[in-house]
Amino acid sequence: MSSLVKTHPAATQALLAKLGPAKVLTDEATCFAASFDNMRLSFMPEAVIRPGVEDDIGIVLKLANEYRIPVTVRGRGTGNTGASSPIQGGWVIHLDHWDKIEIDPISAMATVQPGAITARINELAAPHGLFFPPDPSSLKYCSIGGNIATNAGGLRAAKYGVVRDHVYALEGFLPTGEKVRWAAPLRKFVSGLNIRDLWIGSEGTLGVITQATLKLVNKPAARRTFLIACRTDEGALEAAAELMGLRVNPAVFEFLDTQTVEAAEKQRGSRVFTASELKGLADTHAILLVEIDGHPAALAEDAIKIRAWIGRHAIAFRETDVEAEAEALWDIRRTCSQAMYSLGNAKLNEDIVVPFRSYVELIRYTREVRDRIGLATPTFGHAADGNFHVHIMYDRDNPEHCRKAEKAIHEVMTKVVELGGAITGEHGIGIAKSPFLRLQHTPAEIGAMIAVKKALDPNGILAPGQIFDPLNVWEHRPVKVTLPWDKH
Ligand SMILES: Cc1cc2nc3c(=O)[nH]c(=O)nc-3n(C[C@H](O)[C@H](O)[C@H](O)COP(=O)(O)OP(=O)(O)OC[C@H]3O[C@@H](n4cnc5c(N)ncnc54)[C@H](O)[C@@H]3O)c2cc1C
Repeated sequence: MSSLVKTHPAATQALLAKLGPAKVLTDEATCFAASFDNMRLSFMPEAVIRPGVEDDIGIVLKLANEYRIPVTVRGRGTGNTGASSPIQGGWVIHLDHWDKIEIDPISAMATVQPGAITARINELAAPHGLFFPPDPSSLKYCSIGGNIATNAGGLRAAKYGVVRDHVYALEGFLPTGEKVRWAAPLRKFVSGLNIRDLWIGSEGTLGVITQATLKLVNKPAARRTFLIACRTDEGALEAAAELMGLRVNPAVFEFLDTQTVEAAEKQRGSRVFTASELKGLADTHAILLVEIDGHPAALAEDAIKIRAWIGRHAIAFRETDVEAEAEALWDIRRTCSQAMYSLGNAKLNEDIVVPFRSYVELIRYTREVRDRIGLATPTFGHAADGNFHVHIMYDRDNPEHCRKAEKAIHEVMTKVVELGGAITGEHGIGIAKSPFLRLQHTPAEIGAMIAVKKALDPNGILAPGQIFDPLNVWEHRPVKVTLPWDKH
């Protein structure tokens, strides 16, 4: 248990008296399960609240203000930054059972409760020829509430944008316990200040989302997938920038560096491209995965441009418009995250963003770090928007590795900001990146953010310590647990 944790028995007794033991759970197993996310740093709460009706949330927040209890909102705990970990103890509001989804096919909107699993929204939208484009790799496990609170991105952000681009309206509770609605289930709404967009990406610090109206889009009629081998990382990234200039608007555009491809091939026990496909042109190579979607006639035109581009940059490629074959091309991308563990038993998984002009410099820098500290730095991610997952693989039980990884990640973040980039493009700050916030923002910018937080949450009860208070995560040992997505 962290030294930050405070206990509030009188307040929890008052809460139990108001909501009853079925909604206020204090047993160790429930509290432990709500004490960490995918970052696996455990901070025990004192109680986990599973609200039955909306009014319950107002009651919890009002009591929390009265007794000054830290409150953390939890979706499905897939976050990578510790943002749903109750780092100061107190209460967790757990909303995974609030999972209703209603599709309005005429308006092309979905009205969802925050605990709804993201993939489920698409399952229900598909029969209407619609889909919700944001598709984080965790979409079978994460909740839409968590997606909105982190402004999650996904593989299809290349063409369709991130969660923020698909939220019409939000409902929920202010930290002080009053019910609010931001915007409305309408395609246009400009009345008043746009606090809806302030809530999106605020990582549970500004309010509790209880309902969202989402924008759905037409499901594309067809897709065509290309898997491309480039001789070097630099070659692949230069090719990526060129493709973006050809205006083909890929729906998916992923880059896997040579370290990533080697790790994935080691895990699969086979090469992605056969020796005859590679024609002896390279022992190692980077990969680009490109997918275009839309009307078949438009795809045919774009495919011509893409094949000509491939001709200029690739040493091997495969292409398909057959669904089952496309899945085979995706296999390397889907397995590369877990494959990293062949390079170390722990990973730092950053989600930095750099501008096109800095792609090559970034990848060179990751290799320079690898050569200097002797830890693998596999890098893959979204080539259409510069949002790359830079990893540092290390051994968590080796103090020398931990020291090197801690120093190196600080250097990588400093470099990213120097390159005109962002320290996070989709996971958010939470506690993981709180030590780097001041690299990205000036004191005036952080001061403005804290002023907003104080205005909405005067007693600082919602997610205290998150984002703004630098926390040295290296002082905490991750818990050893197997989570549902670990095998995927
Ligand atoms: C295998 C894997 C792959 C991933 N891939 C991606 C990816 O491709 N793109 C990406 O963006 N992320 C990715 N993530 C990170 C994670 O899935 C996302 O951040 C996701 O949006 C978190 O959703 P969640 O329901 O698990 O939220 P949680 O982890 O429970 O919470 C995340 C944040 O949301 C807040 N929150 C949750 N619900 C509410 C609510 N109702 N009201 C207010 N605040 C709330 C929490 O307080 C916390 O700050 C991945 C994670 C894993 C494990």
